[in-house]
Amino acid sequence: FMQIQTTATQTSGALFEAARRLIPGGVNSTARAQWSGWTPHPLFVEKGFGSQVQDVDGNVYIDYLLGLGPMILGHRPLAVTQAVVDFIQQRGTVFALPTADEAVLAQKIVDALPSVERVRLCNTGTEAVLYATRLARAFTGRTKIIRFEGMYHGFSDAVYWSKHPAIEKAGPDSQPYPVPQGPGLPAGVEANLIILPWNDADALKAAIETHGNKIAAVLTEPVMCNTGCILPEPGYLETMRAMTEKAGIVLIFDEVITGFRLSIGGAQARLRITPDLSVFAKGLGGGFPVAALGGRRDIMALVDDGRVSMAGTYTANGIAVAAANATLDELSAPGFYDALDAVSDRLRYGLQDVLTKAGLPAHVVGIGALMQVWFTTRPIRNYRDAERFADQQLFDRWWRGMLSRGVLFHPGAYENLFVSAAHTQEDIDATLDAARDVARELASA
Ligand code: PMP
Repeated sequence: FMQIQTTATQTSGALFEAARRLIPGGVNSTARAQWSGWTPHPLFVEKGFGSQVQDVDGNVYIDYLLGLGPMILGHRPLAVTQAVVDFIQQRGTVFALPTADEAVLAQKIVDALPSVERVRLCNTGTEAVLYATRLARAFTGRTKIIRFEGMYHGFSDAVYWSKHPAIEKAGPDSQPYPVPQGPGLPAGVEANLIILPWNDADALKAAIETHGNKIAAVLTEPVMCNTGCILPEPGYLETMRAMTEKAGIVLIFDEVITGFRLSIGGAQARLRITPDLSVFAKGLGGGFPVAALGGRRDIMALVDDGRVSMAGTYTANGIAVAAANATLDELSAPGFYDALDAVSDRLRYGLQDVLTKAGLPAHVVGIGALMQVWFTTRPIRNYRDAERFADQQLFDRWWRGMLSRGVLFHPGAYENLFVSAAHTQEDIDATLDAARDVARELASA
């Protein structure tokens, strides 16, 4: 049923076969792997331009994968590309000494985010989360971290837990126990983790009452983006903020996806919650590898005198800083997010309309330029709901149908559709036309 026309992607297929002899899985990141849904093989990209990508067989797609989020300005945004090229041609890349550009960038981040009084750069979201949890532990003198089932905070040993499909093996709904994401994690690490269902204030309250003075941090995405897209229920984050503040627990917002996407101030500005520490990556660099950890001055002060070391050969390298400076200038243009939201809303409401009219059990859930289609008759408020109620097979057919009509998003139901500033109303209309066809086919099958 609506398989990708393998003849039409035969060059990708051949490159994949060749690559997998050298590169485990044929790809360099899990989310591109066959077992992440890219069957019969991932598409190999020739190039991107604006809202589109072209594969090596010459197929052109409207791109809602957007590099899993960083390409908020679309592919090859002129200002960012130019800034990076200028920097590396005229100045260099890595010096192991600071440049004046770093404080310029820090000022932009601090101005954009009221919760961020001091900020340090690093290279990836994984690193930034690792530092955030370390700082929280150093600051509080406590060891336990609360994190939520189904979220992803990077692949470090300490947090690479409990996004596991085998929910029946992970204990009761309100008190899941940690399940490693895979082998190779040292036993014992999980003693410092408390896993909770998201959107469940009672579970959070119970955990804080039981373990309060041992909990260093609550680590959460402000919008759940790693089990599809799940919005916080009204009051949930407010309650989380109040409870953590009262218990002296550091509230860490992982805004790797939402940061610089939901607004210049991320999800926290849009939802009006002030975390203690925040982590940013993807959107910050407009496609170049850069991440940031920022927050309260008194917590970040641990880094001032080296009590907590934050290091890295490539931190704040010329490419990263030039890219982030140029990206933030683009994002700060008046009306940037109004325009991005308008195009994104057109897509979100449009898809909901198309799927509903076709009689399909679909909920298009999202906020701003971030969304996912859930095929379900029941609302999804956390990971176990998704495992129990979401129709993954229908999602797979939807994805394939859209791909065969030139619309690219990730095959995983637990990923997101991203919109960029390069997407036009015409892109959205073409996407909705494709969706109408696919919805009709799915409804009649
Ligand atoms: N946190 C969240 C919420 C993420 O979505 C991701 C990556 N998708 C990470 C952390 C890890 O970031 P990186 O891939 O840059 O290490």
